[in-house]
Amino acid sequence: MTRITVAKGDGIGPEIMDATLEIILAAGSQLEIDEIEVGEKVYLAGNTSGIANESWETIRRNKIFLKAPITTPQGGGYKSLNVTTRKFLGLYSNVRPCMSLHPFVSTKHPVMDIVIVRENEEDLYAGIEHQQTDEVVQCLKLISRPGCEKIVRYAFEYAKQQNRKKVTCFTKDNIMKQTDGLFHQVFDEIAKEYPEIENEHWIIDIGAAKMADTPELFDVIVMPNLYGDVLSDVAAQITGSVGLAGSANIGEECSMFEAIHGSAPRRAGQNVANPSGLLQGAVMMLNHIGQTEIAEKVQNAWLKTLEDGIHTYDIFKEGTSKQKVSTKEFAHAVIQNLGQKPSILKSVSYANNSALNLPKYKRKPATKKELVGVDIFVHWAGSNPNELADKIKQIESKDIKLSMITNRGIKVWPDGFNETFCTDHWRCRFKPSENSEINKSNIIELLQNAISENIDTIKTENLYAFDGKAGYSLGQGQ
Ligand code: NAD
Repeated sequence: MTRITVAKGDGIGPEIMDATLEIILAAGSQLEIDEIEVGEKVYLAGNTSGIANESWETIRRNKIFLKAPITTPQGGGYKSLNVTTRKFLGLYSNVRPCMSLHPFVSTKHPVMDIVIVRENEEDLYAGIEHQQTDEVVQCLKLISRPGCEKIVRYAFEYAKQQNRKKVTCFTKDNIMKQTDGLFHQVFDEIAKEYPEIENEHWIIDIGAAKMADTPELFDVIVMPNLYGDVLSDVAAQITGSVGLAGSANIGEECSMFEAIHGSAPRRAGQNVANPSGLLQGAVMMLNHIGQTEIAEKVQNAWLKTLEDGIHTYDIFKEGTSKQKVSTKEFAHAVIQNLGQKPSILKSVSYANNSALNLPKYKRKPATKKELVGVDIFVHWAGSNPNELADKIKQIESKDIKLSMITNRGIKVWPDGFNETFCTDHWRCRFKPSENSEINKSNIIELLQNAISENIDTIKTENLYAFDGKAGYSLGQGQ
């Protein structure tokens, strides 16, 4: 018996959750259920996170959370409960299998069967944003070694368990050499530990195009958070419908299972929604908690039901479908089929599908970290970089000299192009002159000089070398 937390959510949530629970309980799952309230009502009662403190306690105690979609009210101040849950509970891995159900659900990609493994906690989703000048805002893209190691290892362990042949990594490391570069580097390191699984890396733009065009080229695809967010919806959609896909959010302690779609408020209360996405989430949950036989039974009955042409409105198509059914009728058809297998679609076997047991992250020995310069960012409304350089040179010290100015990353001094468009946000790079060094007091001195010269500094980034290797990017054009 496993105790789980269930939230029925908003919109179509309660209907698809009732259908899902009815199916998995009829299949014999051993579950004790604690229900909590999350979503719209909780938001509108004044709780900006959409969940009450007592509910967190239930989720943390039970560790397994099956969640229906919720409605995030329009307007400012309300925080996404999904993002909060993923980060609070350390649910670092988001797993979305996307498989075609050809010829029963129409799709342009009849042989597609891919699993997107998306990093779920970091990248641009750290949500650290600042306005720094009149014209420029920034969002910090944070990528960590533990974050990369955990997600990449998860992808390979998942591939190994599921007998999948290949893990592909998508990044944009030709541009983001530090952040995406680290993700790619860790991918290459960990791939070596799995010689039996093929591995490859694609630059995300062409990779995404290929995935949308020829998804049969791919098997498991692992990627940083933002790319994974976008591409997992694309992958689900091109199988035929977002209404068919579920997702697992896995952490070291807790896990959350859900449908990938939202609360579809316009369909709420009509008994028409497709419960399949949430059911797919529930099947992943049953596997995760070791009730693999029940998971297998539910999945095969679900495939048989779709194969029989018993379809909710969203996938109903004259010709291929046989019967258009309601949410409840669909659930009852799946229950009728428990114990049966599909005959054309491939039936599943989940013999060893329980939760993956990954080693804990081990911190590597520290490298030799050396301060080698500083970028001082300046708010300046002028337009001629040479003029700015003359001003900035006033704050140089004996040994620390201005070496470069960039505007939005592109070098504009020395030797800039007149054609380069400049905003009011300038990065001024300082380096020690030959045979000298820089320390943190030198940086304070530069900033102090900037105050005296009336230069509006908005932030600094220290430039480090790690074991002699530069830990920062060059200016574009440098
Ligand atoms: P949505 O996924 O709710 O709906 C998009 C379209 O798909 C609609 O036409 C809808 O009718 C259809 N659809 C979705 N699920 C279906 C199902 N199971 N059966 C049949 N048709 C289905 O996306 P949206 O309209 O952009 O968002 C509605 C609300 O859901 C918003 O408040 C949004 O914030 C929220 N949302 C929640 C989650 C979540 O809780 N995980 C995820 C996405 C969106």
